[in-house]
Amino acid sequence: MPRAHATAAILSIGDELTLGQGLDTNSQWLSQQLVGVGIVPVQHATVPDDLNAIRDAMLRLAAAADVVISTGGLGPTADDLTRQALAAAMNEPLAEDPAAMEQLRAWFAGRGRRMPEANRVQAQRPHSASLLQNAFGTAPGLRALLGSAGVEVFCLPGPPREVRPMFETQVRPHLRPAREVTTRAVHMFGLGESEVAERLGDLMTRTHSPLVGTTVSGGVVTVRIRHEGPGGAAAIAETENAVRDLIGPYVFGAGVDTLASVTLGLLRERSHTVAVVESCTGGLLGALLTDVPGSSAAVRGGWITYSNDFKTRLIGVPESTFAADGPGAVSRECAQAMARGGLERSGAGWCLSITGIAGPDGGTPEKPVGTVWIALASRHREIETRRFAFAGERANVRDWAARSALAMLRFALAGAGGLKMLRQAE
Ligand code: AMP
Ligand code: MG
Repeated sequence: MPRAHATAAILSIGDELTLGQGLDTNSQWLSQQLVGVGIVPVQHATVPDDLNAIRDAMLRLAAAADVVISTGGLGPTADDLTRQALAAAMNEPLAEDPAAMEQLRAWFAGRGRRMPEANRVQAQRPHSASLLQNAFGTAPGLRALLGSAGVEVFCLPGPPREVRPMFETQVRPHLRPAREVTTRAVHMFGLGESEVAERLGDLMTRTHSPLVGTTVSGGVVTVRIRHEGPGGAAAIAETENAVRDLIGPYVFGAGVDTLASVTLGLLRERSHTVAVVESCTGGLLGALLTDVPGSSAAVRGGWITYSNDFKTRLIGVPESTFAADGPGAVSRECAQAMARGGLERSGAGWCLSITGIAGPDGGTPEKPVGTVWIALASRHREIETRRFAFAGERANVRDWAARSALAMLRFALAGAGGLKMLRQAE
Protein backbone atom coordinates (compact mmCIF):
# COMPACT_ATOMS: atom_id res chain seq x y z
CA MET A 1 0.00 0.00 0.00
CA PRO A 2 1.73 3.27 -1.07
CA ARG A 3 1.82 5.97 1.59
CA ALA A 4 -1.02 8.47 1.76
CA HIS A 5 -0.42 12.10 0.88
CA ALA A 6 -1.19 13.94 4.10
CA THR A 7 1.24 16.79 3.37
CA ALA A 8 2.71 18.43 0.26
CA ALA A 9 5.59 20.76 -0.59
CA ILE A 10 5.71 23.10 -3.59
CA LEU A 11 8.89 24.10 -5.39
CA SER A 12 8.91 27.10 -7.74
CA ILE A 13 11.85 27.29 -10.12
CA GLY A 14 13.10 30.29 -12.07
CA ASP A 15 15.50 33.24 -11.92
CA GLU A 16 12.60 35.55 -12.73
CA LEU A 17 10.93 34.51 -9.47
CA THR A 18 13.91 34.88 -7.15
CA LEU A 19 14.86 38.19 -8.81
CA GLY A 20 11.36 39.58 -8.40
CA GLN A 21 10.65 39.98 -12.11
CA GLY A 22 7.77 37.53 -12.08
CA LEU A 23 5.24 36.65 -9.42
CA ASP A 24 4.92 33.07 -8.23
CA THR A 25 1.20 32.48 -8.67
CA ASN A 26 1.59 28.73 -9.24
CA SER A 27 2.31 28.05 -5.56
CA GLN A 28 -0.83 29.85 -4.49
CA TRP A 29 -3.00 28.10 -7.03
CA LEU A 30 -1.52 24.65 -6.38
CA SER A 31 -1.89 25.12 -2.62
CA GLN A 32 -5.55 25.98 -3.02
CA GLN A 33 -6.11 22.87 -5.10
CA LEU A 34 -4.28 20.67 -2.61
CA VAL A 35 -6.19 22.07 0.35
CA GLY A 36 -9.34 21.49 -1.66
CA VAL A 37 -8.67 17.76 -1.88
CA GLY A 38 -7.52 17.43 1.71
CA ILE A 39 -3.73 17.60 1.42
CA VAL A 40 -1.97 20.15 3.62
CA PRO A 41 0.83 22.16 1.94
CA VAL A 42 3.56 22.45 4.57
CA GLN A 43 6.32 24.23 2.60
CA HIS A 44 6.81 26.55 -0.38
CA ALA A 45 10.33 26.98 -1.73
CA THR A 46 11.58 29.16 -4.57
CA VAL A 47 14.97 28.62 -6.22
CA PRO A 48 16.78 30.15 -9.23
CA ASP A 49 17.63 28.30 -12.45
CA ASP A 50 20.59 26.58 -10.81
CA LEU A 51 21.01 22.82 -11.09
CA ASN A 52 22.43 22.25 -7.61
CA ALA A 53 19.92 24.55 -5.96
CA ILE A 54 17.04 22.73 -7.63
CA ARG A 55 18.43 19.27 -6.79
CA ASP A 56 19.03 20.21 -3.14
CA ALA A 57 15.57 21.73 -2.79
CA MET A 58 13.96 18.61 -4.25
CA LEU A 59 15.75 16.36 -1.79
CA ARG A 60 15.05 18.65 1.15
CA LEU A 61 11.34 18.95 0.33
CA ALA A 62 11.02 15.20 -0.30
CA ALA A 63 12.22 14.71 3.27
CA ALA A 64 9.65 17.16 4.60
CA ALA A 65 6.41 16.17 2.85
CA ASP A 66 4.56 13.18 1.38
CA VAL A 67 4.43 14.63 -2.14
CA VAL A 68 6.41 17.35 -3.93
CA ILE A 69 5.16 19.41 -6.87
CA SER A 70 7.55 21.66 -8.79
CA THR A 71 6.82 24.17 -11.55
CA GLY A 72 9.18 25.77 -14.07
CA GLY A 73 12.45 24.91 -15.72
CA LEU A 74 11.20 22.30 -18.19
CA GLY A 75 11.66 24.49 -21.28
CA PRO A 76 14.14 23.81 -24.10
CA THR A 77 16.69 26.52 -23.27
CA ALA A 78 19.98 26.31 -21.40
CA ASP A 79 18.49 27.87 -18.26
CA ASP A 80 15.84 25.16 -17.96
CA LEU A 81 17.44 22.67 -15.60
CA THR A 82 14.66 20.94 -13.70
CA ARG A 83 14.97 17.74 -15.75
CA GLN A 84 18.72 17.53 -15.12
CA ALA A 85 18.26 18.40 -11.44
CA LEU A 86 15.67 15.64 -10.99
CA ALA A 87 18.04 13.14 -12.63
CA ALA A 88 20.81 14.26 -10.27
CA ALA A 89 18.51 13.99 -7.24
CA MET A 90 17.55 10.47 -8.35
CA ASN A 91 21.12 9.51 -9.22
CA GLU A 92 20.00 8.39 -12.65
CA PRO A 93 21.14 9.48 -16.12
CA LEU A 94 18.75 11.15 -18.57
CA ALA A 95 17.70 9.15 -21.60
CA GLU A 96 15.53 9.97 -24.58
CA ASP A 97 11.99 8.59 -24.50
CA PRO A 98 11.17 7.51 -28.08
CA ALA A 99 7.39 7.94 -27.65
CA ALA A 100 7.90 11.44 -26.25
CA MET A 101 10.23 12.27 -29.12
CA GLU A 102 7.52 11.23 -31.54
CA GLN A 103 4.94 13.40 -29.78
CA LEU A 104 7.28 16.36 -29.80
CA ARG A 105 7.83 16.01 -33.54
CA ALA A 106 4.08 15.68 -34.08
CA TRP A 107 3.46 18.80 -31.98
CA PHE A 108 5.70 20.89 -34.25
CA ALA A 109 4.51 19.20 -37.43
CA GLY A 110 0.91 19.93 -36.47
CA ARG A 111 1.80 23.62 -36.35
CA GLY A 112 3.75 23.54 -39.58
CA ARG A 113 7.03 24.27 -37.80
CA ARG A 114 10.42 22.62 -37.88
CA MET A 115 11.48 21.31 -34.47
CA PRO A 116 14.51 23.20 -33.16
CA GLU A 117 17.30 20.86 -32.04
CA ALA A 118 17.14 22.41 -28.55
CA ASN A 119 13.67 20.94 -28.00
CA ARG A 120 15.07 17.38 -28.13
CA VAL A 121 15.93 17.62 -24.45
CA GLN A 122 12.23 17.84 -23.64
CA ALA A 123 11.83 14.21 -24.65
CA GLN A 124 14.37 13.13 -22.03
CA ARG A 125 13.64 11.65 -18.63
CA PRO A 126 15.46 9.88 -15.85
CA HIS A 127 15.23 6.15 -16.47
CA SER A 128 12.64 5.34 -13.77
CA ALA A 129 10.59 8.55 -14.19
CA SER A 130 7.47 8.76 -16.32
CA LEU A 131 6.34 11.61 -18.53
CA LEU A 132 3.17 13.65 -17.98
CA GLN A 133 1.29 14.78 -21.08
CA ASN A 134 1.05 18.52 -21.73
CA ALA A 135 -1.78 19.39 -24.12
CA PHE A 136 -0.94 23.11 -24.07
CA GLY A 137 2.81 23.23 -24.69
CA THR A 138 5.89 21.31 -25.75
CA ALA A 139 7.23 20.50 -22.28
CA PRO A 140 5.91 17.23 -20.86
CA GLY A 141 5.96 16.99 -17.09
CA LEU A 142 7.77 14.35 -15.06
CA ARG A 143 6.67 12.00 -12.31
CA ALA A 144 9.22 10.16 -10.22
CA LEU A 145 10.02 8.71 -6.82
CA LEU A 146 12.73 10.34 -4.73
CA GLY A 147 14.93 9.18 -1.90
CA SER A 148 14.85 6.00 0.11
CA ALA A 149 11.32 6.74 1.27
CA GLY A 150 10.14 6.89 -2.35
CA VAL A 151 8.41 10.26 -2.06
CA GLU A 152 6.42 11.11 -5.15
CA VAL A 153 7.61 14.15 -7.14
CA PHE A 154 5.66 15.83 -9.93
CA CYS A 155 7.53 18.33 -12.13
CA LEU A 156 5.30 20.64 -14.16
CA PRO A 157 6.21 23.42 -16.60
CA GLY A 158 6.03 27.09 -15.51
CA PRO A 159 3.23 28.76 -17.48
CA PRO A 160 0.05 28.79 -15.36
CA ARG A 161 -2.12 27.97 -18.37
CA GLU A 162 -0.16 24.71 -18.71
CA VAL A 163 0.15 24.03 -14.98
CA ARG A 164 -3.57 24.18 -14.27
CA PRO A 165 -4.89 21.64 -16.79
CA MET A 166 -1.87 19.39 -16.16
CA PHE A 167 -2.55 19.38 -12.44
CA GLU A 168 -6.16 18.43 -13.08
CA THR A 169 -5.46 15.65 -15.55
CA GLN A 170 -1.95 14.40 -14.71
CA VAL A 171 -1.42 15.02 -11.00
CA ARG A 172 -4.74 15.00 -9.19
CA PRO A 173 -5.64 11.41 -10.24
CA HIS A 174 -2.41 10.19 -8.59
CA LEU A 175 -2.98 12.01 -5.29
CA ARG A 176 -3.96 9.95 -2.27
CA PRO A 177 -5.34 12.34 0.35
CA ALA A 178 -5.13 10.96 3.86
CA ARG A 179 -8.74 11.96 4.51
CA GLU A 180 -11.80 13.07 2.63
CA VAL A 181 -12.33 16.84 2.52
CA THR A 182 -15.34 18.72 1.13
CA THR A 183 -15.31 22.50 0.72
CA ARG A 184 -17.70 25.18 -0.40
CA ALA A 185 -17.27 28.94 -0.89
CA VAL A 186 -20.26 31.29 -0.48
CA HIS A 187 -19.79 34.86 -1.78
CA MET A 188 -21.38 38.08 -0.55
CA PHE A 189 -21.07 41.81 -1.18
CA GLY A 190 -22.22 44.85 0.78
CA LEU A 191 -21.17 43.83 4.29
CA GLY A 192 -17.71 44.16 5.84
CA GLU A 193 -15.84 41.04 6.93
CA SER A 194 -16.41 41.80 10.62
CA GLU A 195 -20.12 42.35 10.05
CA VAL A 196 -20.30 38.99 8.33
CA ALA A 197 -18.46 37.38 11.25
CA GLU A 198 -20.84 39.04 13.70
CA ARG A 199 -23.86 37.68 11.86
CA LEU A 200 -22.38 34.19 11.61
CA GLY A 201 -21.69 34.13 15.37
CA ASP A 202 -21.17 30.62 16.71
CA LEU A 203 -20.86 29.14 13.24
CA MET A 204 -17.33 30.56 13.15
CA THR A 205 -15.98 29.05 16.37
CA ARG A 206 -12.90 26.94 15.63
CA THR A 207 -14.60 23.86 17.05
CA HIS A 208 -17.63 24.12 14.75
CA SER A 209 -17.96 21.30 12.24
CA PRO A 210 -17.91 21.96 9.34
CA LEU A 211 -15.25 24.62 9.86
CA VAL A 212 -16.38 28.11 8.74
CA GLY A 213 -13.96 30.95 7.89
CA THR A 214 -13.99 34.19 5.90
CA THR A 215 -11.69 35.84 3.38
CA VAL A 216 -12.14 39.17 1.60
CA SER A 217 -11.04 40.38 -1.81
CA GLY A 218 -12.12 43.58 -3.58
CA GLY A 219 -15.03 44.04 -1.18
CA VAL A 220 -16.36 40.54 -1.82
CA VAL A 221 -16.47 38.55 1.41
CA THR A 222 -16.23 34.80 0.93
CA VAL A 223 -17.37 32.39 3.60
CA ARG A 224 -15.41 29.14 3.26
CA ILE A 225 -16.96 25.98 4.64
CA ARG A 226 -14.75 22.93 5.09
CA HIS A 227 -15.73 19.45 6.20
CA GLU A 228 -13.35 16.60 6.95
CA GLY A 229 -14.45 12.99 6.82
CA PRO A 230 -17.40 11.22 5.21
CA GLY A 231 -20.84 12.79 4.85
CA GLY A 232 -19.38 16.07 3.60
CA ALA A 233 -22.06 17.00 1.09
CA ALA A 234 -24.94 16.93 3.57
CA ALA A 235 -22.98 18.65 6.34
CA ILE A 236 -21.85 21.42 3.98
CA ALA A 237 -25.36 21.95 2.58
CA GLU A 238 -26.76 22.38 6.07
CA THR A 239 -24.11 24.94 7.03
CA GLU A 240 -24.46 26.75 3.69
CA ASN A 241 -28.19 27.14 4.29
CA ALA A 242 -27.51 28.53 7.76
CA VAL A 243 -25.03 31.03 6.27
CA ARG A 244 -27.51 32.12 3.60
CA ASP A 245 -30.23 32.62 6.24
CA LEU A 246 -27.96 34.78 8.39
CA ILE A 247 -26.53 36.90 5.55
CA GLY A 248 -29.71 37.22 3.49
CA PRO A 249 -29.72 39.10 0.19
CA TYR A 250 -26.04 40.07 0.44
CA VAL A 251 -25.18 36.53 -0.71
CA PHE A 252 -24.83 36.66 -4.47
CA GLY A 253 -23.40 33.27 -5.31
CA ALA A 254 -21.12 30.35 -4.52
CA GLY A 255 -18.19 28.46 -6.01
CA VAL A 256 -17.01 30.00 -9.27
CA ASP A 257 -19.72 32.71 -9.29
CA THR A 258 -18.56 36.33 -9.41
CA LEU A 259 -20.63 39.47 -8.91
CA ALA A 260 -20.31 40.11 -12.65
CA SER A 261 -21.19 36.56 -13.75
CA VAL A 262 -24.24 36.46 -11.50
CA THR A 263 -25.42 39.91 -12.62
CA LEU A 264 -24.97 38.95 -16.26
CA GLY A 265 -26.87 35.74 -15.63
CA LEU A 266 -29.80 37.74 -14.25
CA LEU A 267 -29.71 40.07 -17.28
CA ARG A 268 -29.63 37.16 -19.71
CA GLU A 269 -32.49 35.33 -17.98
CA ARG A 270 -34.61 38.41 -18.63
CA SER A 271 -33.13 39.18 -22.08
CA HIS A 272 -32.11 42.58 -20.70
CA THR A 273 -29.08 44.62 -21.80
CA VAL A 274 -26.73 47.02 -20.05
CA ALA A 275 -24.44 49.93 -20.95
CA VAL A 276 -21.96 51.82 -18.78
CA VAL A 277 -20.75 55.42 -18.51
CA GLU A 278 -17.64 55.62 -16.37
CA SER A 279 -15.61 58.50 -15.04
CA CYS A 280 -13.35 57.72 -12.05
CA THR A 281 -13.29 53.97 -12.75
CA GLY A 282 -11.97 54.53 -16.29
CA GLY A 283 -13.42 51.34 -17.75
CA LEU A 284 -13.11 48.98 -14.76
CA LEU A 285 -16.84 48.30 -14.68
CA GLY A 286 -16.85 47.51 -18.38
CA ALA A 287 -13.85 45.23 -17.85
CA LEU A 288 -15.52 43.34 -14.98
CA LEU A 289 -18.61 42.79 -17.11
CA THR A 290 -16.80 41.77 -20.28
CA ASP A 291 -14.45 39.45 -18.36
CA VAL A 292 -17.37 37.02 -18.25
CA PRO A 293 -17.56 34.65 -21.23
CA GLY A 294 -20.77 35.19 -23.15
CA SER A 295 -21.15 38.76 -21.88
CA SER A 296 -21.89 40.02 -25.39
CA ALA A 297 -25.44 38.70 -25.02
CA ALA A 298 -26.17 41.41 -22.46
CA VAL A 299 -23.44 44.06 -22.58
CA ARG A 300 -24.02 46.73 -25.23
CA GLY A 301 -20.92 48.84 -24.53
CA GLY A 302 -20.02 52.05 -22.80
CA TRP A 303 -18.20 55.34 -22.57
CA ILE A 304 -15.22 56.47 -20.52
CA THR A 305 -16.13 60.11 -19.94
CA TYR A 306 -13.23 61.17 -17.77
CA SER A 307 -13.26 64.89 -18.61
CA ASN A 308 -16.21 67.24 -18.18
CA ASP A 309 -15.91 67.98 -21.86
CA PHE A 310 -16.46 64.32 -22.76
CA LYS A 311 -19.37 64.07 -20.33
CA THR A 312 -21.06 66.91 -22.19
CA ARG A 313 -20.08 66.11 -25.78
CA LEU A 314 -20.54 62.33 -25.71
CA ILE A 315 -23.31 61.83 -23.18
CA GLY A 316 -25.11 65.18 -23.06
CA VAL A 317 -24.42 66.14 -19.45
CA PRO A 318 -25.51 69.83 -19.32
CA GLU A 319 -22.56 72.24 -19.29
CA SER A 320 -24.24 74.07 -16.42
CA THR A 321 -23.45 71.04 -14.22
CA PHE A 322 -19.81 72.10 -14.24
CA ALA A 323 -20.36 75.87 -13.81
CA ALA A 324 -18.99 77.58 -10.71
CA ASP A 325 -22.45 77.55 -9.12
CA GLY A 326 -23.37 74.10 -10.52
CA PRO A 327 -23.35 70.79 -8.61
CA GLY A 328 -20.06 69.68 -10.22
CA ALA A 329 -18.85 66.46 -11.82
CA VAL A 330 -19.10 64.49 -8.58
CA SER A 331 -22.77 64.94 -7.80
CA ARG A 332 -26.14 63.26 -7.92
CA GLU A 333 -27.09 65.47 -10.88
CA CYS A 334 -24.04 64.53 -12.91
CA ALA A 335 -24.35 60.78 -12.17
CA GLN A 336 -28.00 60.87 -13.20
CA ALA A 337 -27.32 62.82 -16.38
CA MET A 338 -24.58 60.33 -17.28
CA ALA A 339 -26.83 57.32 -16.71
CA ARG A 340 -29.77 58.85 -18.55
CA GLY A 341 -27.56 59.98 -21.44
CA GLY A 342 -26.02 56.52 -21.72
CA LEU A 343 -29.41 54.82 -21.57
CA GLU A 344 -30.75 56.97 -24.38
CA ARG A 345 -27.69 56.74 -26.61
CA SER A 346 -27.04 53.01 -26.13
CA GLY A 347 -30.58 51.76 -26.48
CA ALA A 348 -29.80 49.35 -23.62
CA GLY A 349 -32.38 48.48 -20.96
CA TRP A 350 -30.10 49.48 -18.09
CA CYS A 351 -27.29 52.01 -17.81
CA LEU A 352 -24.88 52.36 -14.91
CA SER A 353 -22.84 55.52 -14.39
CA ILE A 354 -19.99 56.17 -11.97
CA THR A 355 -18.47 59.53 -11.06
CA GLY A 356 -16.28 60.15 -8.04
CA ILE A 357 -12.97 61.18 -6.53
CA ALA A 358 -10.51 58.29 -6.51
CA GLY A 359 -7.66 60.38 -5.05
CA PRO A 360 -5.09 60.85 -3.80
CA ASP A 361 -5.72 64.50 -4.90
CA GLY A 362 -8.93 66.32 -5.68
CA GLY A 363 -10.76 65.90 -2.39
CA THR A 364 -12.47 68.82 -0.59
CA PRO A 365 -14.12 69.01 2.84
CA GLU A 366 -17.56 68.60 1.21
CA LYS A 367 -16.41 65.93 -1.23
CA PRO A 368 -13.51 64.02 0.34
CA VAL A 369 -11.47 61.45 -1.56
CA GLY A 370 -13.58 58.30 -1.84
CA THR A 371 -16.83 60.15 -2.57
CA VAL A 372 -18.49 58.30 -5.45
CA TRP A 373 -21.92 58.74 -7.00
CA ILE A 374 -23.40 55.81 -8.89
CA ALA A 375 -26.64 55.98 -10.86
CA LEU A 376 -28.68 53.20 -12.42
CA ALA A 377 -31.05 54.36 -15.14
CA SER A 378 -33.49 51.91 -16.64
CA ARG A 379 -36.36 51.41 -19.03
CA HIS A 380 -37.73 49.00 -16.46
CA ARG A 381 -37.94 51.22 -13.36
CA GLU A 382 -37.19 54.60 -11.73
CA ILE A 383 -33.61 55.86 -11.78
CA GLU A 384 -31.65 54.94 -8.62
CA THR A 385 -28.79 57.07 -7.33
CA ARG A 386 -26.49 56.33 -4.40
CA ARG A 387 -23.64 58.22 -2.81
CA PHE A 388 -20.81 56.12 -1.41
CA ALA A 389 -17.87 57.08 0.82
CA PHE A 390 -15.15 54.53 0.15
CA ALA A 391 -12.04 54.33 2.30
CA GLY A 392 -8.52 53.49 1.20
CA GLU A 393 -6.24 54.36 -1.64
CA ARG A 394 -7.00 55.08 -5.28
CA ALA A 395 -7.04 51.46 -6.47
CA ASN A 396 -9.41 50.53 -3.64
CA VAL A 397 -11.84 53.34 -4.31
CA ARG A 398 -11.98 52.46 -8.00
CA ASP A 399 -12.41 48.75 -7.33
CA TRP A 400 -15.13 49.27 -4.74
CA ALA A 401 -16.93 51.72 -7.02
CA ALA A 402 -17.04 49.31 -9.96
CA ARG A 403 -18.22 46.43 -7.77
CA SER A 404 -20.81 48.55 -5.98
CA ALA A 405 -22.24 49.51 -9.37
CA LEU A 406 -22.53 45.81 -10.23
CA ALA A 407 -24.14 45.16 -6.85
CA MET A 408 -26.71 47.92 -7.50
CA LEU A 409 -27.69 46.30 -10.76
CA ARG A 410 -27.83 42.85 -9.19
CA PHE A 411 -30.03 44.06 -6.33
CA ALA A 412 -32.31 45.82 -8.80
CA LEU A 413 -32.62 42.70 -10.96
CA ALA A 414 -33.02 40.29 -8.06
CA GLY A 415 -35.70 42.47 -6.43
CA ALA A 416 -36.18 41.68 -2.75
CA GLY A 417 -35.68 45.35 -1.84
CA GLY A 418 -32.02 44.59 -1.40
CA LEU A 419 -30.90 47.82 -3.01
CA LYS A 420 -31.88 49.72 0.13
CA MET A 421 -29.44 47.54 2.03
CA LEU A 422 -26.40 48.60 0.01
CA ARG A 423 -24.63 50.89 2.45
CA GLN A 424 -24.80 54.51 1.44
CA ALA A 425 -23.02 57.51 2.89
CA GLU A 426 -25.26 59.70 5.05
P1 AMP B 1 9.66 27.89 -17.53
O1 AMP B 1 8.85 26.65 -17.70
O2 AMP B 1 10.54 27.88 -16.35
O3 AMP B 1 10.39 28.26 -18.81
O4 AMP B 1 8.63 29.06 -17.25
C1 AMP B 1 7.96 29.68 -18.31
C2 AMP B 1 7.16 30.85 -17.82
O5 AMP B 1 6.18 30.41 -16.89
C3 AMP B 1 7.92 31.90 -17.04
O6 AMP B 1 8.55 32.82 -17.86
C4 AMP B 1 6.83 32.54 -16.25
O7 AMP B 1 6.16 33.49 -17.05
C5 AMP B 1 5.89 31.41 -15.96
N1 AMP B 1 6.12 30.89 -14.60
C6 AMP B 1 7.14 30.09 -14.21
N2 AMP B 1 7.02 29.80 -12.90
C7 AMP B 1 5.91 30.42 -12.46
C8 AMP B 1 5.26 30.51 -11.18
N3 AMP B 1 5.74 29.87 -10.09
N4 AMP B 1 4.13 31.24 -11.09
C9 AMP B 1 3.64 31.86 -12.18
N5 AMP B 1 4.20 31.82 -13.40
C10 AMP B 1 5.33 31.12 -13.54
MG1 MG C 1 12.14 29.32 -16.31
